[in-house]
Amino acid sequence: MFQKILIANRGEIALRVIRACREMGIASVAVHSTADADAMHVRMADESVCIGPPSSGQSYLNFPSIIAACEVTGAEAIHPGYGFLSENANFVQVVEDHGLTFIGPSAEHIRVMGDKITAKDTMKALGVPCVPGSDGGVPDLEAAKRIGEEIGYPVIVKATAGGGGRGMKVAQTAADMETAFGTARSEAKAAFGNDECYIEKYLTTPRHIEIQVFGDGKGNAVHLGERDCSLQRRHQKVLEEAPGPVITAEERAEIGRVCADAVAQINYIGAGTIEFLYENGEFYFIEMNTRLQVEHPVTEAIFGVDLVREQIQVASGMPMSFAQDDLQINGHAIEVRLNAEKVPNFTPSPGTITQYHAPGGLGVRMDAAIYAGYKIPPYYDSLIGKLIVHGRDRAEALARLDRALGELIIDGVDTTVPLFDALLQEADVLSGSYNIHWLEHWLDQQAGNG
Ligand code: ADP
Repeated sequence: MFQKILIANRGEIALRVIRACREMGIASVAVHSTADADAMHVRMADESVCIGPPSSGQSYLNFPSIIAACEVTGAEAIHPGYGFLSENANFVQVVEDHGLTFIGPSAEHIRVMGDKITAKDTMKALGVPCVPGSDGGVPDLEAAKRIGEEIGYPVIVKATAGGGGRGMKVAQTAADMETAFGTARSEAKAAFGNDECYIEKYLTTPRHIEIQVFGDGKGNAVHLGERDCSLQRRHQKVLEEAPGPVITAEERAEIGRVCADAVAQINYIGAGTIEFLYENGEFYFIEMNTRLQVEHPVTEAIFGVDLVREQIQVASGMPMSFAQDDLQINGHAIEVRLNAEKVPNFTPSPGTITQYHAPGGLGVRMDAAIYAGYKIPPYYDSLIGKLIVHGRDRAEALARLDRALGELIIDGVDTTVPLFDALLQEADVLSGSYNIHWLEHWLDQQAGNG
């Protein structure tokens, strides 16, 4: 087992990893930009190293500074968290070239899944059901139009290198194709430096259902059920729950087995998420994330496992601590993402937190990286924390969420708490009757445009 791990991240996820390290008796090293000198992860880690100025390009994404921080502190392994370098195959290569361990999958698996076309081809070959669409990249508008006719409108044009909901455009009819294809391409070029796009059937009322998988890198893998992340704004998740309100035990066992088999076949190591759109009882693969997800705590809650501990364990060469039969679902969990943003327009609201009180009690977990007096820097993602609740069933989890939100105090900056207070008044949310478009429609209605 490792003696010391460096966490190449910030915010709540850095704390999450530090906590796992401490429980495992492993020393932790935080890295931080000059803007984060007073951040919680710096305070909580055993050691910290400043790796550069505020801009993430020069700090949290700076390979040489991070490798040097390992050398200076004697850290043997790097946990990347999510975002930043977590899905950067070149970084994994550099880490390994320096004799260090990357806590995550191999560079090859990250590369394969990072390119959405290769990912889809690979998954198809491994027996995972996919959304009907083009075979690979679409070279030009003419081909795009032909494919649109073949698979039938509406279709969605997506960037091969896509992520974070960028580079995606819907064409409702053939007449929209020119604009959709052109815009998706130029957005992809600007965001990812690669304008290759592919086309998929656009599903009109799907839910976003993702399967948590975990492998030991030696041909063994398990699944930990699904998370329903259908409540999205601009393709970004805002509330996640497990198990999914509409997924049956049979469906879970079947799609879970397909996913676990797929990753076992490629000797996948560590945590991964296979994302699907789910419509009319069918699952359609959209992408695989080769890292820990923001919403992993809802899975931890219902299975009673620590996914970060497990990641560290398999990265050090030890076996997984559970087999498929050990994994039984207990109750229901819901996570809400607390962003420093002002609703209803979700404008970033950095600033100083004047008062902070975290909710507590049975079944409540607060993963946040804030304290009274903390100044939220304007340079990074606006996620400041996650509130996760666990109950014996969905109704209890919802009541607990309502109660916990009532206890939570974050003063000094605007947060997304009012959004969740309002959502908990909605019959569709209470009954779990929503798809990936529900939240956008609801927000439009609230704004009086609907
Ligand atoms: P990203 O990597 O940018 O997050 P994804 O492929 O995961 O992109 O898609 C993000 C979201 O976009 C999905 O959760 C869903 O809301 C929507 N989406 C993607 N593909 C389709 C599709 N074929 N039909 C309908 N919606 C889609």
